[in-house]
Amino acid sequence: MAVTGSASGIGAAVVAALRADGHQVIGVDLRDAAVCADLSTADGRRAAVAGVLGLVDELDGLVVCAGLGPHVPDPRQIIEVNYRGAVEVLDGLFRVLRGAAVAVSSSASTMVKWADNPISRGEEAAALADAGEYAGHLAYSWSKNALTVAVRQRVAEWGAAGVRLNTVAPGAVDTPLLRAGLESRFGDAIRSYQAPIPRRGRPEEIASLIRYLLGPDAGYIHGAQFLIDGGSDALMRPTEF
Ligand code: NAD
Repeated sequence: MAVTGSASGIGAAVVAALRADGHQVIGVDLRDAAVCADLSTADGRRAAVAGVLGLVDELDGLVVCAGLGPHVPDPRQIIEVNYRGAVEVLDGLFRVLRGAAVAVSSSASTMVKWADNPISRGEEAAALADAGEYAGHLAYSWSKNALTVAVRQRVAEWGAAGVRLNTVAPGAVDTPLLRAGLESRFGDAIRSYQAPIPRRGRPEEIASLIRYLLGPDAGYIHGAQFLIDGGSDALMRPTEF
C-alpha cells in the first residue's frame, strides 16, 4: 500500500489503520516518510511516483491524501497539491495497482459545479487573480471539485483494469490542517460551521472508511464519493444528491 500525506492527520491515521491490518505501507510526504517529495511541483510529483516504483513492483492499495487547507498564503499551491498532486500520483501508479485506490477529496467539492470551475478550462490562474480575499477558499473548493471529477472520469479505464477508485469527502476533521485554519482569519467562519453531529470528525473515523473502501468487502464500490461530514451536506442541501 502507499499513502500520500502520511506524516500527519488523516494520512497518518490511514497508515496506522493499514499497518494494524498487517499491510506494508509506503508513506509519501514532504518529510518523515519513506518517500520524501514535494507534490506541489511537477518534478516533485514525478519523484514521488518514481520513489514508490523504486520500492515495489506492485501495489495492492493507494491513498492520495496529501493536501493543503484554504488558509495557506499562496492559493496556487492549494491547486497544485490537492488536485495535481493527487491526480498525477494516481495516474503515475495506476499501472502497478492491483487492488483499489482512494482519493481524499472534501465536502467542499460540492460547493462549485464543474462547469463553473476554472480548472475545467485551465483558467485558474486568471480566476485566482480576480478572487481577492477569498482566493484560498475558492482554490480549495475548485481543487477538490476537480479531484472528484478526475476520479469519476477514470471509472471506465480503471474498472476495465480491475482497479477500483473512489473518493471520500470529509467535513471538518480535527487535524493540524483544521487547527491551522482555526488560527487564521477564517477561524470564526470555521467555528460557526456546526454539523448535525455536534463535533468535529476524528482522523481515525475517516481512516476507517478508507480501510473499508480498499478492502474486499467493498468489491462493487467504484467511482463513488462518500461524504463523511456529520450530516452537514444533508442539512445544507437536503434535495440535492
Ligand atoms: P494535515 O495537514 O494533518 O496533513 C496533510 C499532509 O499533507 C501533511 O503531512 C503534509 O506534510 C502533506 N503535504 C502538504 N503539502 C504537501 C506537499 N507539497 N507535498 C507532499 N506532502 C504534502 O491535514 P489533514 O486534515 O489530515 O488533510 C488530509 C487531507 O484531507 C487533505 O487532502 C485535506 O484537504 C483533506 N480534508 C481535510 C479536512 C479537515 O477538516 N481536516 C476536511 C476535508 C478534507
